[in-house]
Amino acid sequence: MATPSDQSTPTKGVILSGMRPTGRLHLGNHLGALQNWVALQQEYDCIYTVVDIHALTTIESPTDVADIQPNIYEMVLDWLAAGVDPEQSTIFVQSQVPEVMTLHTLLSMVTPMGWLLRVPTFKEKVRQMDETEETVNYGLVGYPILQTADIILYKADTVPVGQDQLPHLELAREIVRRFNRSFGDTFPEPQAKLTEAPLILGLDGQQKMSKSLGNHIELAATPEETTKRVLTAFTDPQRTTRDIPGRPEVCNVYSLHKIFSSSAEVSTVYDECTTAQRGCVDCKRHLAASVNQYLEPLRERRRDFQERPDYVKQVLDQGGKEARAIAKNTIGEVYEKMGLGQHP
Ligand code: SF4
Repeated sequence: MATPSDQSTPTKGVILSGMRPTGRLHLGNHLGALQNWVALQQEYDCIYTVVDIHALTTIESPTDVADIQPNIYEMVLDWLAAGVDPEQSTIFVQSQVPEVMTLHTLLSMVTPMGWLLRVPTFKEKVRQMDETEETVNYGLVGYPILQTADIILYKADTVPVGQDQLPHLELAREIVRRFNRSFGDTFPEPQAKLTEAPLILGLDGQQKMSKSLGNHIELAATPEETTKRVLTAFTDPQRTTRDIPGRPEVCNVYSLHKIFSSSAEVSTVYDECTTAQRGCVDCKRHLAASVNQYLEPLRERRRDFQERPDYVKQVLDQGGKEARAIAKNTIGEVYEKMGLGQHP
């Protein structure tokens, strides 16, 4: 790809985005983020990273650690299958560019503790982990600094975010401003690119689709597994027998039809449901067929990549080299500006 290292004549903005290595992705991840990543490649130089160091902030057992490498492999396979293109974008693993840890340490010198403690998601996370501000590990407190380092190490100027992540990005911008004021203009202030992702509810019809809640459909599932999963979906709770007309507006199966079935099919579902001409089991089978049809090209690409030994490793090695070249330039500049002399 045309790497952002050629910063003397920038023609495109530089996007940075990352995902924790959670293994195989699901439909919610695809519609909420991955699809957007693929589209952004047309307009920006994109840098996509597996943030494995961030995953360590909430690691609880050796089993979690053992899962990291297989999870990276499975997740990157999904990225590639969805259309994240190593010819256009830089794809790499965060920890393979150790300069990010150096920058994290250096940025911590200009980041007041109060800024970190006031991040709303920090308090929430501490509560979820059953910790206090006294007992929680520093990694979690310093998480936004590492996130800032992830972005500015590559001089990314744009970050795709949902509304809920805006406070994190605002903090990154504050850290950048403070660094630039103290040591001279070095980093661009990253701008938010708000993404309008549809909220995808899980098969329980109640909560956001999520692997931890077990209400998800994996992109890489077989058609048979997908059908089996979709058949477990909750529907209109008032429709206890087939002869009771349904209420599509409260049924998540209908919401999913609106995403995966054609508009003619969606109209048919609506009409047949509200007049009790369609049973919920048939309706779910219909949805499963639509989902399988939608995912088939992705699954085929995934199978192809899987059959190429070492393909994912090659992509990540190449991306790591590209990312490291940019990172070394930046750290060299930071060393000089902070009076540390030449970066070794
Ligand atoms: S027929 Fe379809 S849309 Fe209607 S309640 Fe059943 S699953 Fe939902």
